[in-house]
Amino acid sequence: ATPTAIMVGTGLGAESGILIKGGEHLEQAHTLNAVIFDKTGTITSGKPAVTHVWTANSVSEEELLRAAAALEAQSEHPLGIAVVKHAEEQGILPEKAADVHAVPGKGIEGMVTGRTIRIGNRRWFIENGVTEFPDDVMTNFENAGKTAVMVAGDNKLLGVMGISDTIKDGAAETVQRLKNMGIEVWMITGDNERTATAVAKEVGITNVIAGVLPADKAAKVEELKKQGLHVAMVGDGINDAPALAAADVGIAMGSGVDVALEAADIALINAKTEGVVGAIRLSKAAMRKIR
Ligand code: ADP
Ligand code: MG
Repeated sequence: ATPTAIMVGTGLGAESGILIKGGEHLEQAHTLNAVIFDKTGTITSGKPAVTHVWTANSVSEEELLRAAAALEAQSEHPLGIAVVKHAEEQGILPEKAADVHAVPGKGIEGMVTGRTIRIGNRRWFIENGVTEFPDDVMTNFENAGKTAVMVAGDNKLLGVMGISDTIKDGAAETVQRLKNMGIEVWMITGDNERTATAVAKEVGITNVIAGVLPADKAAKVEELKKQGLHVAMVGDGINDAPALAAADVGIAMGSGVDVALEAADIALINAKTEGVVGAIRLSKAAMRKIR
């Protein structure tokens, strides 16, 4: 594209909340034929809420939430924020927690009133030897697009929370528009397969990569690139920075963390998925000007 076309394209983008960090990215965007969306905070609002709490025999909901909120009070993960908010709304005061640490892509653990409390996903619990859980309850949550978050005390299951996130307005339209442009659309997430598939289905995505550890998201981007695809990665979280950097075009949602914004080539400051279509359109327009 000519310098003028790039200036015009970049300016038009800025006006609609699409910040393009350099002319070369504007020139790249029209060649994209695959777009990978992160789930949480990108396809969904990233502000999940606890909708159901299932407890094991002899465990009260209050006991479960008091322990869970104690750990999650020290978490910045959207799921953690949801748990703390839910406990607060129920008027439940969290216990005190010590030695709390997050395990990326898996959950969080720490000491609460003398026992080890763990909160996280099925795969991590199985790794820790917790193999008995209510499959039917969890399957029901997951088929409804909720994340089933397990809570254990000293490796004994206390309960499972169903945590639900809303899909962003316009996400389904964005997916359809991209498909109409001949672009493959993918979704990638650390969340489990069933939840991921349910969410993807609601927005019309059939290519789903689930259960991916944060460190492996970039490897999946590389894999698609090796297949000859020109890949855009769209994400919001700290987890997504390596994948954004690995993509041909990294697109960050503006409401996301600074790390993701820094790693990106394009930032969508209003966090709307439509900006992905907008960026590709701007690129096509800028490239047409030289022919
Ligand atoms: P995403 O790719 O959707 O951003 P993450 O990689 O952050 O997901 O997390 C993957 C999974 O790990 C979550 O779906 C959840 O099951 C579990 N997990 C991670 N952090 C927490 C936490 N603080 N509390 C409960 N579960 C967690
Ligand atoms: Mg995320």
